Amino acid sequence: MKRKFLITCVLFAAVTSVFALTACDGGHTHSGNTMRRNDSEHFKVCAECQAYYDEEAHTPVDGVCTVCGYVVGYTQGLELQYLHGGGYAVTGLGTATEAQIVIPSYYVYEPVIAISERAFENSAIKSVVIPDTVTKIEDRAFSGCTALESVTFGAHTEELGSAVFKGCTALKEMVLPQGIPAINDHLFESCTALKSVTVPDSVKKIDFQAFIFCGALEEVIVSDESKLVEIANGAFSDCKKLKTFEFPQGFQTIGSGAFGGCESLNNIVLPDSLIDVDGFAGCTSLSTIKFGNAVETIAKSAFERCAALQAVSLPATLKNIGAFAFSSCNALADLYFAGTQTQWDEVEQGEFWNQKEGDPIHLHINATN
Ligand SMILES: [Zn+2]
Ligand SMILES: [Zn+2]
Repeated sequence: MKRKFLITCVLFAAVTSVFALTACDGGHTHSGNTMRRNDSEHFKVCAECQAYYDEEAHTPVDGVCTVCGYVVGYTQGLELQYLHGGGYAVTGLGTATEAQIVIPSYYVYEPVIAISERAFENSAIKSVVIPDTVTKIEDRAFSGCTALESVTFGAHTEELGSAVFKGCTALKEMVLPQGIPAINDHLFESCTALKSVTVPDSVKKIDFQAFIFCGALEEVIVSDESKLVEIANGAFSDCKKLKTFEFPQGFQTIGSGAFGGCESLNNIVLPDSLIDVDGFAGCTSLSTIKFGNAVETIAKSAFERCAALQAVSLPATLKNIGAFAFSSCNALADLYFAGTQTQWDEVEQGEFWNQKEGDPIHLHINATN
């Protein structure tokens, strides 16, 4: 009897508490900031009773809700995949057929945080708008998209993988997202229509062959605030229209062939922070190069075949000139060395470093021009 009474009490308590939960409006004030969204509205979820409250229609400006960041009117039919750590990644076009792609910011109440490897590779898309929720764009995500003309990044893109835009031959201009730490290898390889690129100040490294074969590239904008310290091997190789490049103060490392074959490059000023110089072989229009005041090494073949170079001034800090460093610089008439004859005699000189047609290079010791 006692036991039966107890069970009745427990049951009664359970029923009343369920009743209290469903009718919580009178019992407590909803609270909590978990926000959810559907195609028409955003709302909050009560931390105490899980009820939805504060439902409001989205207030889109340029297709993005000003309150919750939801992308209104995104492309239907895209293929999305749930990620183990939470959130979704766009993995492909799915059943979408339009050429103007707008990626959703949320899918089934979770943010869309990535564009997967090769997601749009070799597709016919013309433009893509990436929402603020996306932080990562993986390798080759848009490579071979030969009709792609316009890419709008969200505010929080933190990583662009390798070769993401390789072979995007219709891409003319690119303003990369602020915040990325590097322009990764092959990122714009063979983007043959690309004319202008702005390098975000956050970029520390322009990696291997990032812009190789960008035959139309005329302008690479690097600001005074740039954190750029390294340009890797072949980064701008065969960018035949590139006229100049401004190295920021603090720049440290330049790889072999970094500007190799940049036939229009005519004027270069290297910062004092660059100690080991390399990377300008085959720059056949290069007529002026100003070295930093602490240069120690001119690497092997660094200026080979710079046929327009007439005079070069090197600081007294120089210790090593690599093999073929100024080989086939057939217009090079004068080399000015700021140090003494003794200092010059101590400079290690690689074979054929000054081999050229015509008169030998005239060396001026203790001199600058
Ligand atoms: Zn509640
Ligand atoms: Zn909203």
